Amino acid sequence: MKRLILVVAMFLAVFVGAGNIDAYAAEPVVVVIDPGHGGSNLGTNYLPIPEKAYTMVVALHMKEQLEKYDGVKVYMTHTEDVDMSLTERAKFAESVGADFLFSLHFNMSLPHNLYGSEVWIPSLGMLYSQGYSVANEFLIQFEEMGLFNRGIKTRIGQYGTDYYGIINQCAIRNIPAVIVEHCHVDNTNDIANIQSENKLKEFGVRDAEAVARYFGLVSKDKTVDYSSYAPLAVPVPAQRVCNDTSAPLYLDAKLVDYDKAGRYLTVTLTSQDDESPLQYYAYSIDNGATWSPYQPWLGNGNVMTVTVNMGFGKKSGIIFKVSNKYDLTTVSNGIKLR
Ligand SMILES: [Zn+2]
Repeated sequence: MKRLILVVAMFLAVFVGAGNIDAYAAEPVVVVIDPGHGGSNLGTNYLPIPEKAYTMVVALHMKEQLEKYDGVKVYMTHTEDVDMSLTERAKFAESVGADFLFSLHFNMSLPHNLYGSEVWIPSLGMLYSQGYSVANEFLIQFEEMGLFNRGIKTRIGQYGTDYYGIINQCAIRNIPAVIVEHCHVDNTNDIANIQSENKLKEFGVRDAEAVARYFGLVSKDKTVDYSSYAPLAVPVPAQRVCNDTSAPLYLDAKLVDYDKAGRYLTVTLTSQDDESPLQYYAYSIDNGATWSPYQPWLGNGNVMTVTVNMGFGKKSGIIFKVSNKYDLTTVSNGIKLR
């Protein structure tokens, strides 16, 4: 509850005139790190090593790195490979007076076409603002590692509250909690990031860096000082921020140019999604039976001109698709070469 105390201290500083900042420095920020899954709950087990093993390694490195800072008390929901319900994790956070819970995860998709990092946050009120601001810090760190930024997201469940149990159970207890999906274990774009102890350690160090920046921490040896760092200020939303449930409205593919062999093709793609940004595009030369790997949508808003190498061979129907931040896709019209 450090932030509240900080606000009160600043208030006193203004009105009392000689605010003693040390008054709140004695009250550490309480951070709970939650290694996702554990015990019989393996998490993603696409690889021989299940997700629960990766999340534990990263969590231990994150804790070690974060404890190099003053003014922070770090807990883990569990340090052994045990089953623990999401409610138990939230109750643990409550029992230690958590200011924030960070639930660490690794992702995969079917059919293994997605890549990059994302952070899921609470959908309501101050928890949303806090979640968004800290999520922004995590994604800055992961982008520096070369990972694709899949964005900051909310997800609403059938009861109109947060879909993800750890976020919902923490929200019930008024504790901000975010799910950090570091990268995708089943995609060649991301896989190198989990294949060595050094890379997993880097995730832990980056996670700690994000949290240190968000809370404005100063390292014990005084070499790192984030006390004047300003994390993104996010206004408290008036109502619940819901996820986008509709695909981009359309995708228009317009032929610009192609080589005589019909191998290279330049197309201008125009799409529209008023609720969430466009994220990837792909193309098919067999009318959607198979697709190219997803490419980042780097368009200027809703328009992007792409040149693709379709290879030689028969083309039974050239089409494109675009997906938005919530992985909802829309397919284009067909391209006729002549
Ligand atoms: Zn997970």
